[in-house]
Amino acid sequence: MLLNDKTVIITGASRGIGAAAALECARQGANLVIGYSGSPTSKGQVDELIQQIEAQGRKAVAVGAPAEDPDTGAALVAAAVEHFSGVDVFVNNAGICPFHSFLDMPRETYLKTVDTNLNGAYFAVQAAANQMKEQGRGGAIIAVSSISALVGGAMQTHYTPTKAGLLSLMQSCAVALGPYGIRCNAVLPGTIETDINRDDLSDTDKRQYMESRTPLGRLGRPDDLAGPIVFLASDMARYVTGASLLVDGGMFVNLQ
Ligand code: NAP
Repeated sequence: MLLNDKTVIITGASRGIGAAAALECARQGANLVIGYSGSPTSKGQVDELIQQIEAQGRKAVAVGAPAEDPDTGAALVAAAVEHFSGVDVFVNNAGICPFHSFLDMPRETYLKTVDTNLNGAYFAVQAAANQMKEQGRGGAIIAVSSISALVGGAMQTHYTPTKAGLLSLMQSCAVALGPYGIRCNAVLPGTIETDINRDDLSDTDKRQYMESRTPLGRLGRPDDLAGPIVFLASDMARYVTGASLLVDGGMFVNLQ
């Protein structure tokens, strides 16, 4: 039990990477605040996840609120305080990637992506950090960045800057929050099969190309991120802050 009786908030935990991480945190003894957009279509998945968490003997509550709203972080923290008396771990995971070419990028698509992935995250991390500081027992903050923080993508010119921004945010917050015992780290997933890239990967050639680029020979699954997130959240990573962990099956180093 790496997270026994800890309270973990995860944004974007209705499905994909966030849901897999939430379930593993529960297996490791944590209670959860599940963040999601509030969309009625995701509510069923959230209810199912809460049942799975409760089957592990842990508790979970859901907060449906848009990640792009600067007040959403405070609402997530308020739920953690109300139901579990505080917050130990904050995982900023909610994100969108509406693939689009650069020269005709609609202004609203760019702004929505930056607001959802980065601007909302800034204020959510700030809200979690203030609560952790007030509690006085440290904490762990993890941003789900991306391999896209390190490489470009013609259809992701709006997305990659948000992921580089999250990585940079964790580096600066590690410095700002170290004196309070709050560790800040990033995970950088490679290509993980989720709803975010379902359309992109339905192109068989693209899919085979991505698999062929991956030394471990397969695309990632959401639960491939669960272990790295739990590790960075846990006391096993007590001297790890300002770090980034690629979780990509080796794709990034496979250039030649
Ligand atoms: P996903 O399956 O599409 O899940 C996205 C999650 O974010 C959902 O829980 C969704 O909630 C939530 N979300 C989306 N827009 C939101 C909004 N406006 N407000 C609040 N919540 C919102 O995608 P995923 O692949 O698991 O992505 C999770 C994170 O991993 C993202 O930040 C993504 O950039 C990052 N990542 C993914 C990959 C990959 O290959 N999959 C690679 C690198 C990084 P609803 O269900 O309510 O919409």
